[in-house]
Order: sequence, then C-alpha cells, then structure tokens
Amino acid sequence: MDEVVWIDGRVYSREEARISAFDHGFLYGDSIYETIRTARGVPLLLERHLDRLRRSAAVLELRLDRDDAAYREAIFAALSAVDLPEAAIRVVVTRGVGDLGYERHLCGAPTTLVYVRPMPSIRDPKRRKGVQVSIVDIRRNDSSAVSPAAKTSNLLNNILGSFQAQNKGAEEGIMLNRDGYVAEGTMSNLFVVRRGRVQTPPLDVGILPGITRGFVLELAQEAGLAVKEARFRPDQLVSADEAFLTGTTKGILPVIRVDGQAIGDGRPGPITRQLIHLFDETEDRLVAEAAPDGASAETKRPNPSGEKRR
Ligand code: PMP
Repeated sequence: MDEVVWIDGRVYSREEARISAFDHGFLYGDSIYETIRTARGVPLLLERHLDRLRRSAAVLELRLDRDDAAYREAIFAALSAVDLPEAAIRVVVTRGVGDLGYERHLCGAPTTLVYVRPMPSIRDPKRRKGVQVSIVDIRRNDSSAVSPAAKTSNLLNNILGSFQAQNKGAEEGIMLNRDGYVAEGTMSNLFVVRRGRVQTPPLDVGILPGITRGFVLELAQEAGLAVKEARFRPDQLVSADEAFLTGTTKGILPVIRVDGQAIGDGRPGPITRQLIHLFDETEDRLVAEAAPDGASAETKRPNPSGEKRR
C-alpha cells in the first residue's frame, strides 16, 4: 500500500478509512491539523509540528487526549504500513463525535487521524524555474476572529483564495491582511529579498507561524544574512529583488512573477538559491543524524552552537 490512514489506533487502506457522519470535524470544520514531510523515511521537524498542534488545540479549547509519544507512535505506525521514502503525513484531530450543537459536553474523546501519502520530491524542476503567484481579493482572516496562528481545518478563505489564483494560472494566491499588508499564501509563507536583506511579514500581521518559515529564518541568520521581520505592502512585493514561498510540502519555492510582473530579472535570485542550498544541506544532515524513531531529526537545530534563536 502506498496510502493509509491511521484512525484511533488502527491502520486502514484509503478505501476502508471512514469517520462518523456525526464527527464535529466534518460537521463544523471543528478540527486542527499538521502536515509533516518525510525524507528517506524520517519525519522532519516533528517536534516543532507537535508543539504547534498543541498550540492550535489550545486556541480551539480542544483537549488533546494523547501525549507527544502517542502521536509519534501513531505516525510511525502509519508510516510503517507503507513503503515510502518521501511521504506527506497529515495529522488531524477533531472535536470528536457528538450530537449536533455547539455545547462543550456533546463530544467525547477527539478523533485522531494520521494520513500518509506519497509525495513528490521538493527538489523538482518547479523549484529550479520558480513559480508565479497572484494577489487574491480574499483576505487572511483577521486576528480578532479565529487566530490565523492556529492551524485549523476551517480552510474556506484559503480554498477560495487558491481558486482565484488557479483561475489566473498562478501556483499560489497571496492574501493580504485586513489593513492591506501582505500576509501569506493560501498554503505557504512568503519572503522577499531587497538589497540583500531577507524579509518576511511578522506574526502579528496575522499569519500561520510556518514551521518552514521559522527554520528558514534560522538558516538565514546562521548564514550571516541580514534578516528582518517587517510588514510590507503588495507594491513592495512586486518591486522586491527576489521572493520565495516556504511550506512543509514546498520547502523553499522561488517566486518569479506576481500577477504577470517579473520579480527582479524573472529568475530565482542568488539569495533564494543560497537558502535552498542551505536548506537541502541541513535537511540531509538532519536525516543522517536521525534516530530510527526520528527522535533527533528536529532536536538537532541547524546550528548546534546554541546561539540565540527566535
Ligand atoms: N501558511 C498557511 C496558511 C499554510 O496553510 C501553510 C501550510 N501548512 C503554511 C503557511 C506553511 O507552514 P509550514 O511551513 O508549517 O508548512
């Protein structure tokens, strides 16, 4: 099998996998998730993903019924049912099964699912060529609604934003926040490079604290690049020297056009390429150093010298 779903202790084939029609994840989008990538069988940055799962659960007041060791066990049970060096893992935790309604007591234990499916390598031609993005009308939901920092399965803004981008033939839709600042992609974070400085919107613009975003910020700092978290508007994206997207299933993906306008000379820029090189190198090291259960793959940070980190 190359695709399985682990559901509350059992591994199912894609055809067999089922949840209840009364699951509040299905009924209300009342659930959270994490997407994790494996490289040569090692789930990358797993500890950071499990941390964020907990933070998302806290935002939704969703009481998780498993500790990190149990989530790891579930992930490795699902992974061991397939033979995939490069896989995408999606951990979903829903409010659980219960009668219709919003009362807290309706659901018993959460439903936990771990989807595992094959994933094409992120080191593909798209990355060498770069991609086009489009600034979409739909805004990133405001921080005064459900926090954009929580990774919830309530993804309609992102889905509609992605549709708009697809209609324009773009790889990704870039959402602005309510005040018109650039926030992030529908499935990725966004960086620009101007005058040698690597810049990305700060978390308080109202974005997902991407695991890849954090990792790339660390790599850039450790490489001695000038790094800044700062707000910018769409015109500053278009006039940037370089731009790139980050995400678990993308790694670092150069952006070469925004709504038809070229960024820089319309090719992946030198700092983007430097970061991609560092990213691959660091990933290879993490994989080589990982324990059989993947335990050390995320505790080993890019620079083990213990320098201050964000
Ligand atoms: N922003 C959004 C809205 C996303 O859905 C994703 C993908 N999970 C990201 C950013 C990138 O986050 P990560 O690097 O943790 O995959």
